[in-house]
Amino acid sequence: MRGHTHLLAGAALALATSKYTHIEANTIWFTSAAAFGALLPDIDHPKSTLGRIIKPISWALHSIFGHRTITHSLLFLFIVTSLLWTVFPNYPFVVMGICIGVISHLMLDALTVSGIPLLYPLKTKIRFPFYTRTGSFTELVLFVLLVITNFVLIRNVF
Ligand SMILES: [Zn+2]
Repeated sequence: MRGHTHLLAGAALALATSKYTHIEANTIWFTSAAAFGALLPDIDHPKSTLGRIIKPISWALHSIFGHRTITHSLLFLFIVTSLLWTVFPNYPFVVMGICIGVISHLMLDALTVSGIPLLYPLKTKIRFPFYTRTGSFTELVLFVLLVITNFVLIRNVF
């Protein structure tokens, strides 16, 4: 999936979490963190949204691991969560937001033809039984649905 689709999915998941759970988070920080987290796994691709901003890290990850390997796995989620809890122990909702964003990214990429290596370093790819291609008309429909979902959730959360 493309960066803008991931961004909206991360925001929608965070807004839904804010609305339907008893988390008392600052919704703006929580949702912004989730939107950022939703872009994070594609840091392993130099032409991705974050890859173009943080080129040295993106280039290094891409050279060592390639695209859609470790950064699209539960291992990456564990590493990111552990690092964030260690570095930002006083900002639990930012940490949770970023984790929710990463989870939304993994879910969306599991909806694509190539799937994700969720159990990396095992090479087995995981994908949903219904899937599409990145940049397809189906992704465009999903993007439009996510725009609508975000508007509805924003109206209900704030
Ligand atoms: Zn991805």
